[in-house]
Amino acid sequence: METLIYLDTARALGLEEGDAHVIRNAGGRASDALRSIVISQQLLGTREIVIVHHTDCGMLTFTDEVIRGKIRSELKQDADHIAFLPFGDLEQSVLDDIRVLKESPLVLDVPITGYIYEVESGKIVKVGSS
Ligand SMILES: [Zn+2]
Repeated sequence: METLIYLDTARALGLEEGDAHVIRNAGGRASDALRSIVISQQLLGTREIVIVHHTDCGMLTFTDEVIRGKIRSELKQDADHIAFLPFGDLEQSVLDDIRVLKESPLVLDVPITGYIYEVESGKIVKVGSS
């Protein structure tokens, strides 16, 4: 049985309630959050982006082929068209996501900073910025 770890990234970043629009998804992947980021910037006035991935992430443990195979056998469905966005290198995944947002024509040119939240220590480590 998998345990869902609650990450207190808000506390690690020193955020108070209402300071940030927090968008969560599996792996913290930027392309998956794009719709919400655009809404946040255009309608809520958000002008800075912080990407946080974390150590011991489940996204490091599988590939698209593995999850597609699981869906095929358990659900009898074809999910070959879905990119589940797992990654093999945690730090690189953060840098990739900074680039995805920086290069998106739908995202305003705002500061983007990427961090890794260390679940073992509760510390947050900066790995890059735009
Ligand atoms: Zn994770």
